[in-house]
Amino acid sequence: SFELLEKFRDPALCRKILDKMRAELDGGLRFMEVCGTHTVAIFQSGLRSLLPEEIVHLSGPGCPVCVTHESEVNAFLDLAGRDNVIMATFGDLMRVPGHGGRNLKKAQADGARVKVVYSPFDTLKLAKENPGDLVVFIGVGFETTAPTIAGTMKMAKAQGITNLRVLCFHKTVPTALEALLTDAMTSIDGFILPGHVSAIIGLEPYKFIAEKYGKSAVVTGFEPLDILQSLDQMIGWRNAGEAHVTNNYTRIVSDEGNLKASEIMYEVFEPVDALWRGIGLIPGSGLEIREEWEGFDAKKEFGITIEEGPALPGCKCGEILKGIKQPDECPLFKKACTPANPVGPCMVSTEGSCAAYYKYKLD
Ligand code: SF4
Repeated sequence: SFELLEKFRDPALCRKILDKMRAELDGGLRFMEVCGTHTVAIFQSGLRSLLPEEIVHLSGPGCPVCVTHESEVNAFLDLAGRDNVIMATFGDLMRVPGHGGRNLKKAQADGARVKVVYSPFDTLKLAKENPGDLVVFIGVGFETTAPTIAGTMKMAKAQGITNLRVLCFHKTVPTALEALLTDAMTSIDGFILPGHVSAIIGLEPYKFIAEKYGKSAVVTGFEPLDILQSLDQMIGWRNAGEAHVTNNYTRIVSDEGNLKASEIMYEVFEPVDALWRGIGLIPGSGLEIREEWEGFDAKKEFGITIEEGPALPGCKCGEILKGIKQPDECPLFKKACTPANPVGPCMVSTEGSCAAYYKYKLD
């Protein structure tokens, strides 16, 4: 309820935790929030400017649009405009630029049939209404969205719909965190773990962060007190020489996750190696349509392969997603690259770090 949420915004309590953190801070803390919704919450609540200077806030690879690889963007742009193809997508992919500044919005203006859907289930209706066409849904997102798309495919099968395809570019979060922890360029003391993804996968897939790498990670809600409490906890553990993975967002996330959603997701998809923008190939970090479901697979239908290619010239999204650079260190930030005219994906999505910096960072 609203009253409950208000409690998690209590300014007096926030101040108390901030004072405690200041007193206990022994050396700095470099924390990464993995989810774009946290990035926005940290700025919007003003926390970013209230945190002690020694606490360095890094934005991680948790905005699905931002980590969609250039080659994946080019693949769906190439499909848009083909005869008898209707592309279906979430709205936030419409302005993501591919090579030569192409995007779905421009393709649509040039005559490609591109439909923005609010739920993958909307594609069922679209497919039924256009029996002579193939409806291709662009499957982008993490463990939060993948089960819904798997559910849509199951429903299409049950309803005998044969003209729906999924261009599957799903990615999984824990594998990306491991890639960051093994990257010599990154330096991260702890993670604020995403609430929505964790609601599906639970705590277990993150345990390696403490067990193998000696870092802490906390599943965290999106209110200021949620975030401060998790940071304070991580400071305490670090001071005590400990590392833990825990769940502070128990009002939404259970430690086991949503077993039914995971089951549906893995019934239809299986793990594969995937390319992440700026990070590169991460083994086992993507989801691919299983052979039993290949009738839905747009990659197989159109012979699409995803390969490493040249990055967008000048864009530093890759280093930003790894926490190596901050958005205002990109020479194009606020100059050639703005939300109205984005050069890279981190400026397109409202959950992208560059867009959040542009909107909220005042200095
Ligand atoms: Fe890329 Fe624009 Fe961000 Fe620079 S400011 S990293 S060009 S999205």
